[in-house]
Amino acid sequence: MLEELNPFAIAQKQLDQAAEIMGLDSATHELLRWPLRELHVTLPVRMDDGSTNVYHGYRVQYNDARGPAKGGIRYHPNETVDTVRALAAWMTWKTAVADLPLGGGKGGIICNPKEMSEGEKERLSRAYIRQVGRILGPDLDIPAPDVATNAQVMSWMLDEYEAIKGYHCPGVITGKPLPLGGSAGRGPATGIGTVVTIREALKRLDINASTTTAAIQGFGNVAQSAAIGYIDMLGGQVVCVSCWDHKDRASYTYTKKGGIDPHFLVTITDAYGTIDKEAAMDAGYEVLDGDAWIGLEADVLIPAAIENVVTGETVKRIHPKVKVLAEAANGPTTPEADEYLRGHDIYVIPDFLCNAGGVTVSYFEQVQNAYGYYWEEETVHERMDKKMTAAFHGVHETAQKHNVHNRMGAYIVAVARVAEACKLRGWV
Ligand code: NAD
Repeated sequence: MLEELNPFAIAQKQLDQAAEIMGLDSATHELLRWPLRELHVTLPVRMDDGSTNVYHGYRVQYNDARGPAKGGIRYHPNETVDTVRALAAWMTWKTAVADLPLGGGKGGIICNPKEMSEGEKERLSRAYIRQVGRILGPDLDIPAPDVATNAQVMSWMLDEYEAIKGYHCPGVITGKPLPLGGSAGRGPATGIGTVVTIREALKRLDINASTTTAAIQGFGNVAQSAAIGYIDMLGGQVVCVSCWDHKDRASYTYTKKGGIDPHFLVTITDAYGTIDKEAAMDAGYEVLDGDAWIGLEADVLIPAAIENVVTGETVKRIHPKVKVLAEAANGPTTPEADEYLRGHDIYVIPDFLCNAGGVTVSYFEQVQNAYGYYWEEETVHERMDKKMTAAFHGVHETAQKHNVHNRMGAYIVAVARVAEACKLRGWV
């Protein structure tokens, strides 16, 4: 893989920049550039036709100085160990910036889940746990859903782990369905956390949130709850949402005079976040090109769909009124666009801060599993709000203090916390 496209090389480079600004000593810097440990596994799986397929998978525990490793498991045909390493590094910085007592990890299996039956996926998930289960545990490493894995996959994995151990252990995995020990309020947590960070950013910029508008990309899990939260929590208006339309193999932006109604749009959206175009047009929505969201007049932009959408080219289409870019998606902004945003005084809430509401509630899921006592959704979101508010201001103040942009501010906060834990343990 080309060095500049290798996600792990990119993750190391980002750390290098933070280490230089912080004056991190060379031993700590070198320690944090690499995963502490990783397991590579080979998984024979019986297919429905009686043949056996052999899959390859990974679990990377990047750094667990602050607590057990935490991070999702991905099923993807192009999975590479370097992608998993990079994602594990980013999880380490995300749990640290949110000040959770957790480290960072990630897992992946090279497979094409779209070509597998439910039974084949179940046998693959169980085979993964039979190999990787030996390094998992509520006090060791706690996986969660990620690309192409969901609450059902987590249920099979939990069941296999508990069958091996011979006792109940719901805290070994998060993102479980409610009957198996999931947390109330996990679904909308990432979107609500995003709105919390926007609320605090607008306060810092001395802007009355209830007079603001937001343009959102996407209408899946994160975008739906961000849109609803923007209106219900802030009293603001959402000018558009967008989605990928599987039928047309094209993306569209949906807008309406006076603001869109996310509660209505949810009723005409499928499980993949695709809005029914005809039903939206019947309800008076205007359908624009998928790229249009970035150029609409709004105070806040919320990319909440996929990576690399704010690029050197699209960034120039951002409306002059925009004051905040809230990165709900992972990696929506390219380095070239980042430069431009800094030059144009747009306040960026970096991804691993902006979307940390999800992992914060995953941590609450573990806490509830440990207690065997479950909180109301309201309590979950109140506690998440408090954590996200504190995380936001920690990053804002650090960025101001070091005279750097917020993304670097977030790195400095996270790296300093992980470095301190490594030092206290006597590792460096
Ligand atoms: P999702 O699959 O539920 O929704 C994705 C949405 O994006 C869908 O509406 C889809 O139609 C839309 N989309 C896809 N391609 C598009 C395109 N080219 N143009 C416009 N819209 C497009 O996913 P999600 O869980 O909402 O995640 C969204 C982003 O947030 C991802 O980057 C994810 O990594 C990140 N994230 C999610 C969570 C979480 O808790 N779900 C946590 C942290 C980060």
